Amino acid sequence: MTDIQAFLDQLYQRYQDLNVGQVASYIPELAKANPDYFGISVVTTDGRSFHAGDVDQQFTIQSISKVFVYGMALEDWGRDRLLEKVGVEPTGDPFNSLIRLDETSHRPENPMINAGAIATTSLIKGENLTARLNRLLAMFRRYVGQDVYVDMSTFLSERATGHRNRAIAHLMLNFGMIGDDLEESLDLYFQQCALLVTGRDLATMAAALANQGQHPLTCEQVLQPQYVRDILSVMYTCGMYNFAGEWAFRVGLPAKSGVSGGLMAVVPNQAGIAVYSPLLDSNGNSVRGLKVFEALSQEYGFHVFDLAMGHCRFQQSLSPQPSTSEP
Ligand code: GLN
Repeated sequence: MTDIQAFLDQLYQRYQDLNVGQVASYIPELAKANPDYFGISVVTTDGRSFHAGDVDQQFTIQSISKVFVYGMALEDWGRDRLLEKVGVEPTGDPFNSLIRLDETSHRPENPMINAGAIATTSLIKGENLTARLNRLLAMFRRYVGQDVYVDMSTFLSERATGHRNRAIAHLMLNFGMIGDDLEESLDLYFQQCALLVTGRDLATMAAALANQGQHPLTCEQVLQPQYVRDILSVMYTCGMYNFAGEWAFRVGLPAKSGVSGGLMAVVPNQAGIAVYSPLLDSNGNSVRGLKVFEALSQEYGFHVFDLAMGHCRFQQSLSPQPSTSEP
């Protein structure tokens, strides 16, 4: 089995020239992304990190923010009260669909689709929009381990063109699922999506989830441990849009993708992994990202059922850590 750093370098070489897919353009600012960007990051739960490619390139987090905001809403409201407003059922529909919401459920199915994410964001507590944004930024700062910023151009670009999300919010207001401060909640949602991160950041954030909510580098408890399982469950069943079932079958990891090209996955008790590559397939998932994760899962036995059955081979691929204790 290949050493992890050597394998990341190999994967980078293998998929660097895979120019398949499209950069998202329905948010005009996203269309400016360089399709050649490609980075792979692995951060282990004991704080080691391995990288290949453009891992320090910033991009907006987009839908991957939904995972962390869901965590905050769980802490703000508790599991049962949050479930009254946002379900945990996968839809098999595109992330921005509103048909089921209108015709059957009236309650957003899960927090990983736009409807559920907007409802989740609307529940984030705080006196006013600034206070709520500051709480979100502080939360993201704890996960990343340093200051985080909202990209103003992407925020404004999405706010100006996010008519579909506005329609979803109005439908939910009609069904009593969100309050009438919906413009404020939409602003907050667009701001969380426009948060700037790098692949390295995403892998670190995922590593905190892999480490039962404790940050692998700062050692801060960034999420109450009882909610980690909830988040990983919805990531596993709903995190990859209408590819979630196939992803669970082939790769088998709780994961979340975003339309800017980020893809983050959690290997419980082992590592956080992230790929950034803006070329997307028709489901909205990063094409190179899918390839990399399939290869990683096969090489190291990362599938959660491989992990559960003791077939994971990741630890053997890490060179032994230098001992810090005196002889
Ligand atoms: N901000 C984007 C939207 O609401 C996020 C979608 C995504 O990354 N899938 O449309």
